[in-house]
Amino acid sequence: MQRNSYKIVSYKVKHVHDELIKEFLRDYRYILQRSIDIIWDNITWKRKGKRLIPLLPKSQEFKKQLRQQLSKNWKHAAHYVVAAVEVAYSILSSWRRNYLKGYRCRKKPVVKRKFVRVKKTLYTVKDGKIRITIIPRELYVEIDISNVWFKKRVKNMELGELILKENEVILTYRSKVDDQQLDGNSNTIAWDLNLFSMDGFCDKGWIRVDLKYLYTLHCTYENKRRRIQKLMKKKPKTAKRLLKKYSRRRNNRIKDFLHKLTRTLCKEFPEYAHCFEDLDKIKMPRTTSKKFNRVVSNMNFKEIIKLMSYKSRVVLVDPKFTTQTCSRCGGRMKHRKGQVLKCEKCGLVINRQLNAAINLYLKMWGFPPSMKTWKETILPVLRRREVTLNGGETDDILPMNSEGVEVDVPQGPCVSIRVHMG
Ligand SMILES: [Zn+2]
Repeated sequence: MQRNSYKIVSYKVKHVHDELIKEFLRDYRYILQRSIDIIWDNITWKRKGKRLIPLLPKSQEFKKQLRQQLSKNWKHAAHYVVAAVEVAYSILSSWRRNYLKGYRCRKKPVVKRKFVRVKKTLYTVKDGKIRITIIPRELYVEIDISNVWFKKRVKNMELGELILKENEVILTYRSKVDDQQLDGNSNTIAWDLNLFSMDGFCDKGWIRVDLKYLYTLHCTYENKRRRIQKLMKKKPKTAKRLLKKYSRRRNNRIKDFLHKLTRTLCKEFPEYAHCFEDLDKIKMPRTTSKKFNRVVSNMNFKEIIKLMSYKSRVVLVDPKFTTQTCSRCGGRMKHRKGQVLKCEKCGLVINRQLNAAINLYLKMWGFPPSMKTWKETILPVLRRREVTLNGGETDDILPMNSEGVEVDVPQGPCVSIRVHMG
């Protein structure tokens, strides 16, 4: 039922390499790019309608020959050749995925940065020092981690892959979280992500986080970018400089907001497992034109999920049907007015985002929507929340119709969470 229930954190350690290691990084980038080049040249392009579908060469024989070819003149540990081929395949697979979705064009990926991923088999940890083999019995990189600032944080975690970069080493740690830990006792919150808000459902009720600030940021800089683009013909140099400056500023401000947002969420919901839609499973409309709003929301969601998975436990759920299905009876939802949906079958009237969040919540626990679950699990939470929100009497519950079934929650009793900026 649950996947991805593990926690991964990574930390940077500054490290100045000597000339031999710098040479190794250069050589590695070379064979990685060579590997991409060779695989690229062997792609079969299959015609399907108007499109060309790339098929990567996958045979063992091809991979073996590729490794042999790259091993010529390679003086470092042979493992790195194997690793480079793997990395090349993962780069090309991700390019292929994006190409099929229409995000990338038919252009070969180029490795610009120097980095080497170091697997567990290529290093040892002894006396607080990591020793990475570059050439067996000859050349090593040693990194002292006995006094790093994050020592306490990773105390019970397992050191995983390392990434060797030009002036630093990135250490990743992981701790396994058993699926069973997601039992009836652990708190979970399911999030429906939208352009202007993220809506959560958990034992505390309906939680809403305003994302308009983030959207405004994107718009402001998009407008700036468009204005500068007009300058491109007359003053290309100035335009390029300005573009660079503003895109950096934009990225910093967005990053800043997202860090504050995720920090706030972890503080408000300590020890909670956060459930999100599995973005890889969302079918994107196959259009080549990139609509601004879609690009923005995609960018935000990816970043929010990534940052949350560093700071807390994240569970990904297939979002199929979560927006059109009634969270009470499983019937089809019909658009009513504004953000409000009405079920064709049972007549539930509910806010769109809240409905999606409840559906994700149910999916995470493996329950299909049913009247019984709604009555026993969802309704009590919504009611309880309303009572405490008003701080009022017990009869101050959600409005009900004469049959006592329909719960009308169009605008909601929701808890707003603010991200304080500046
Ligand atoms: Zn219904």
